[in-house]
Amino acid sequence: SLALLLTRLYAPLTALSGAHIEVMSALVSFERVFEVLDLKPLIAQKPDARAVPEGPVSVEFDAVRFAYPSADKVSLASLEEVAALDTRGGERVLHGISFRAEPGRMVALVGSSGAGKSTIAHLLPRLYDADAGAVRIGGVDVRDLTAESLRDTLGMVTQDGHLFHDSIRENLLLARDGATDDELWDALRRARLAELIRSLPDGLDTVVGERGYRLSGGERQRLTIARLLLARPRVVILDEATAHLDNSSEAAVQEALTEALAGRTSVVIAHRLSTVRAADEILVVEGGRIVERGTHETLLAADGRYAELYRTQFADGSGGPEATGSAGAS
Ligand code: ADP
Ligand code: MG
Repeated sequence: SLALLLTRLYAPLTALSGAHIEVMSALVSFERVFEVLDLKPLIAQKPDARAVPEGPVSVEFDAVRFAYPSADKVSLASLEEVAALDTRGGERVLHGISFRAEPGRMVALVGSSGAGKSTIAHLLPRLYDADAGAVRIGGVDVRDLTAESLRDTLGMVTQDGHLFHDSIRENLLLARDGATDDELWDALRRARLAELIRSLPDGLDTVVGERGYRLSGGERQRLTIARLLLARPRVVILDEATAHLDNSSEAAVQEALTEALAGRTSVVIAHRLSTVRAADEILVVEGGRIVERGTHETLLAADGRYAELYRTQFADGSGGPEATGSAGAS
């Protein structure tokens, strides 16, 4: 149970410090607690790990099965995650996922919430490893790659862009070490964030992240998009990368994203039809399985789950059949 887990976690700490910790009310960073207790899993790099092959690379999932580890083996960022994990961990989430994005091509994942799309995305940077099957980049199992080359090859924008408690400049330089201020401003402009940053008293030196300047969800997302534009990674993963943006900023940022994707291998989890339509292959994920695959046209003609999604999920003004104008065709 959650209570048991918390007791297990905190007992050694309280014993050490002799302090009383108000577990449920304090905004404790669980990640740090785990670090202190040395429970944080490190996905180990093999001694003979190699770099990702040069040039454009493919991304491949080969019969991947996966269950989130149960709570006592995981690092957790928040109390909510502890509570969630307590009941969810251990069950199989992916049941044999296979697909291949050719170098420079885009695969899109669609499906209802909880289907397993984000989990698929998380296996690429090795936030977790598959229990069976293989995830390959450039034909090499990700478990055989060096952490550094994996990090340099992949760029990911998620629903809630993670920022470090540091200046905006430092957060951007993580994407491209040695970038000039001009380059930083250019990326910010294309991510539609330059105006806001310029209006802050400390500009690029504004400290963001926990205890820093509070960026909204949409602003954080645009900052991670700016990072992506700077990093120009060979493989781009977008997980509902524009979910927090309103329609007008989304349209503006979409242009920058399209540019970031051009010629790159990409896995795109999309909630907007305009992105999905452009994909070379669309995978419909339900219950941890790929239940349909094809292009927009073939899937519509098949009149199955995708056609249903197209009529419901995508029809809410994001370019579905009811929408008029250019959104769906762009
Ligand atoms: P989607 O992105 O398609 O909405 P997810 O990949 O986030 O789906 O979730 C797939 C399943 O895995 C869901 O049942 C979800 O509850 C579960 N899940 C997601 N994250 C975790 C986690 N950190 N620990 C345990 N279970 C999780
Ligand atoms: Mg998701």
